[in-house]
Amino acid sequence: YSTINKNTFHFKDLKTTKCTKPKQSIPKEKLVFGTSFSDHMLEIKWSESKGWETPNIVPFHNFDLHPAVPALHYASQCFEGSKAYRGNDGKVRVFRLDKNMERMNNSVIALGLPQFDIQEAVKCIEELVKVDKSAIPEGVGYSMYLRPAVIGTEPALGVRPSKEALLYVICSPCGPYFPTGFQAVRLYADTDHVRAWPGGSGASKLGSNYAGGMYPQKLAALKGYQQILWLFGENHQISEAGTMNAFIFWVNEQGVLELLTPELDGTILPGITRDSILSITRKWGEFQVTEGKITMDQVALASQEGRLREVFGAGTACVISPVKEIGFMGSDIHIPLDPNDPTAQSGPLAKRLYNDLMAIQYGDISHEWTTIL
Ligand code: PMP
Repeated sequence: YSTINKNTFHFKDLKTTKCTKPKQSIPKEKLVFGTSFSDHMLEIKWSESKGWETPNIVPFHNFDLHPAVPALHYASQCFEGSKAYRGNDGKVRVFRLDKNMERMNNSVIALGLPQFDIQEAVKCIEELVKVDKSAIPEGVGYSMYLRPAVIGTEPALGVRPSKEALLYVICSPCGPYFPTGFQAVRLYADTDHVRAWPGGSGASKLGSNYAGGMYPQKLAALKGYQQILWLFGENHQISEAGTMNAFIFWVNEQGVLELLTPELDGTILPGITRDSILSITRKWGEFQVTEGKITMDQVALASQEGRLREVFGAGTACVISPVKEIGFMGSDIHIPLDPNDPTAQSGPLAKRLYNDLMAIQYGDISHEWTTIL
């Protein structure tokens, strides 16, 4: 996508209206992901006639939407997912929020909606996090999930880019994804459904990309698998693991120890955790790091020949999710976890990357990827 709309909203125009009745905060042990929200939200309106309006932080509220808006009919909607962390030093940090806004700035184009200035958006969201700072629970694994979204809000039916839109951000305090430590998952390699295809919108974070996955996900769950391993093509190339990017750590056919993740060919969501893992492991320089293609037959053969070391998914919600089995064409491919510990729920690489990323996010290591608020 190359259309750049120079019009943007500006952080300097941001107005904050504080809520008068702050909510009672839920004890952190009782937090259920995505069900409780902080006291404020950010809203920025856009229309073809007025362009972007001024940003506003306002008390959290329900929307009053016209029933015809394209967000409700033609999936004129895109979103993001990031987190704010309270570090061991008590300071609040955001992690690579600029990357999320860069990705959202690509997603809006796919909907025919206008772009905005990434830094202005980051500054507005950082201000929202500051306003609702007290809602971020303390403790490693706890955070406040940030959900920016853009929805088409023109009050009219008609399949065309919406002439009105709303960018908004809500915040949801949440607990650790693995409260009792890693739980390795079983993936169902689905040969019947596809998540994304060449020329499609899989590289953008559109709500419509997720709607089609819900029925296949339900079928996989009935078969006893936690997530789908999305495949593509006659040769069953690995695409993504549920709503995470997939990583395969193996000794490849050339006998080279390699960490491989599917390349960004337009069908893969460019994950920020993915990008961080590539950067960290390339810096280590301990094994080959590849963005490429890998098929299920290659994985099955590597498993049989003892060349498969680890498989894991990576994303903001869980950071790293180790995989222990992949159901493929009627049988389960066994994925090793830790060769030195039969009870382990993760391989050594998955664990090391998890610890390294958490150390950055919680500020144990100071890093250019985090901003202290
Ligand atoms: N793939 C998909 C389909 C996703 O929904 C996500 C979550 N945003 C990811 C990968 C991981 O992306 P990130 O690391 O930016 O959270």
